[in-house]
Amino acid sequence: MKKYLFSFLAVLLFVTPSFAKVNAVATLPWIGSIAKEIGKDRIEITTLIKAGQDPHFAEAKPSMILAARKADLLMYNGLELEIGYLPRIIESSNNPNIQPGKKGNLDCSQFITPIEKPSSVDRSMGDVHPLGNPHYHFSPKNILSVAEGMTNALSENDAGNADFYRKNMQLFKDRLMEKQKQWSSRPLKGKKYIAYHKLFEYLANEYGFWILGYIEPKPGIPPSAGHIQEMIGLIEKAKPDAVIATYIAGKKEAGALSLKTGVKSVVLPQDVGATEAAQDWFSLIDEVFKGLE
Ligand SMILES: [Zn+2]
Repeated sequence: MKKYLFSFLAVLLFVTPSFAKVNAVATLPWIGSIAKEIGKDRIEITTLIKAGQDPHFAEAKPSMILAARKADLLMYNGLELEIGYLPRIIESSNNPNIQPGKKGNLDCSQFITPIEKPSSVDRSMGDVHPLGNPHYHFSPKNILSVAEGMTNALSENDAGNADFYRKNMQLFKDRLMEKQKQWSSRPLKGKKYIAYHKLFEYLANEYGFWILGYIEPKPGIPPSAGHIQEMIGLIEKAKPDAVIATYIAGKKEAGALSLKTGVKSVVLPQDVGATEAAQDWFSLIDEVFKGLE
């Protein structure tokens, strides 16, 4: 009997680690979506911010602290996009795994080069992009780097499944290369837009379209009547292809500008899950391309 019990325990000890899923927490839906591509069924993902929420103005909730308390790996956007809630969540979680500098704390912005980086940090007037444009998920190039960084972080946190994560990374890369070919052939080159928020600049840089002006005078600051008048002038002069808003910001303003000037307005998903069709990162980018055409 003793012998059997010993064997049973040995089997348990041997088998348990490969069944224990990595408990991952992602702040934003797109981060959870990329993590899912790499981790598949070996990780359990909780996403803190919903697609219908504005990530610039989210607040810490007890359910978020609870999720962070159990996390092996916390993955976030960085560039201070989560400054309003994440430091409090990390601190209140009392979870040593996810504290800054630990292997369970993954700032995804470390893998990319931010654009629009100001020469000095300026939060005057409430600018919500003090470290440069934080919306680098609208860049296939950046997403590849982030996915590689995630693969390394997952492998470091769960060495037994490292080969599995690397294999999924290769599949992700192959799919991304294929998609990039399709996206490159889309007719966006040279198109011009007016946007509500500074959200699609990485995509514009990579695919050759222009964003001529912003309905927000500074990121996160609603426009004054005077600024709207300036935008009407700009639209009448530059005749952009469309005025862009998202489901969480600028829909009303873009619609009003469209009525006033006759230029069409489009509402785009800003993150995975913002529309039914944008169900993962790939389809999010597909939907944005579709809207911009
Ligand atoms: Zn922003």
